[in-house]
Amino acid sequence: MTRISVRRFDSTTFSIKRSFKEWRELAIFGGRPAMAEALHVGRPNVGNRARFLQLADRILETRFLTNNGPMVSEFEERIASYVGVRHCIAMCNGTVALEIAIRAAGLTGEVIVPAFTFVATAHALQWQEITPVFCDIDPRTHNLDPRHVERLITPKTTGIVGVHLWGRSCDTEALEEIAKRRGLKLIFDAAHAFGCSNSGQMIGRFGLAEVFSFHATKILNTFEGGAVLTNDDQLAETIRLMKNFGFAGFDNVVHVGTNGKMSEVNAAMGLINLDSFDDFVAASRRNYDAYRQRLETLPGMSLLKYDEGENSNYHYIVVEVDQSKAGLGRDELVEILQAENVLARRYFYPGCHRMEPYRSYYPNAGVLLPETEKLAQRVLLLPNGTSVSPKQIDVVCSILNTAIRNAPSLRRALAARRKNRAKASAVEAVSQ
Ligand SMILES: *Cc1c(COP(=O)(O)O)cnc(C)c1O
Repeated sequence: MTRISVRRFDSTTFSIKRSFKEWRELAIFGGRPAMAEALHVGRPNVGNRARFLQLADRILETRFLTNNGPMVSEFEERIASYVGVRHCIAMCNGTVALEIAIRAAGLTGEVIVPAFTFVATAHALQWQEITPVFCDIDPRTHNLDPRHVERLITPKTTGIVGVHLWGRSCDTEALEEIAKRRGLKLIFDAAHAFGCSNSGQMIGRFGLAEVFSFHATKILNTFEGGAVLTNDDQLAETIRLMKNFGFAGFDNVVHVGTNGKMSEVNAAMGLINLDSFDDFVAASRRNYDAYRQRLETLPGMSLLKYDEGENSNYHYIVVEVDQSKAGLGRDELVEILQAENVLARRYFYPGCHRMEPYRSYYPNAGVLLPETEKLAQRVLLLPNGTSVSPKQIDVVCSILNTAIRNAPSLRRALAARRKNRAKASAVEAVSQ
């Protein structure tokens, strides 16, 4: 077994196994894990730390900690001008930003959303007693299928919330046409899509409003954070009131509201990360290309593509596993990788419609969501970001290679292992 040293982005050093000679050496069968330290899907990108500490020091010096301070204002201006939109309203997180956008837009009754998304998209509606109506996706784009949207519209429908999954734009043109013709409000959950474009226009400019998340795991983070972007002056004003308890000035509350404010230290993180944003994208792109080369020759592993004609942030390494070709299923590959300390994930398994409370409300929703159901079984996310190096990607792909090349033996061994475990836990249950 060859062992090599790898310098990581944050310059700690640890050793990894370069290649597996044999499938029996995989950690799932008791071998030593390939990664001494866990490799995460969304390990945060962090820009210039010295600069961040300078800004943090200024915040402490001036005692301007929150309430629309200078850092938040600068962050909002930079995001708005980067996207090319009139208003950016920064908030404490993407979920609250989504809730406020939905409320300010006046959505009620039923709103059409994909089920193949992070659960916050559905929760932001349900939290305000709006019914999320789950819509199937187009298996090619992983985004809302506009033909299916149209069929779900009822007299109670007031809007559509599209999600630009993995940063790849929804079919905004088709959705805007439907929304206009049927008198619906259109909002986009753009949590994945900062730095991405659609027909050459930056995402953040589409529909009535778009919402970014700056959560730690996203390409651009403010620790926690989010923002609503809109070109609608009236809507922007309502949103600004709502995120600050409805205060229009000292002692003057003119609207019902909540506390959705972003704090100064969060904005400071956003500013230094914006300075490094091009480097983040370049690292993600380099890693994406490394995965592409190494996965190309593996049967049943298709890497999600990003349109070369658009801006993409390359933050998500999404693989669709075809079990009939790979010989192993997505869940088996996740198990194998996780044993090696490669914490691959099954986003957004099993789909919002199979999570509570939606699962109890609509127990048969899956029947109407065949593409979502199929995709939720196939999607595998691999580690990416500035703390992942091409050398580590070599290791991840060599684990996959070893597993897939030896799929029949591996399947048998995994099945035997499961059986033994079941037997062991049955014995334990009896003896208790
Ligand atoms: C991350 C995410 C959110 C929620 O954003 P937070 O900032 O974590 O609240 C919403 N929708 C999608 C699709 C996300 O990935």
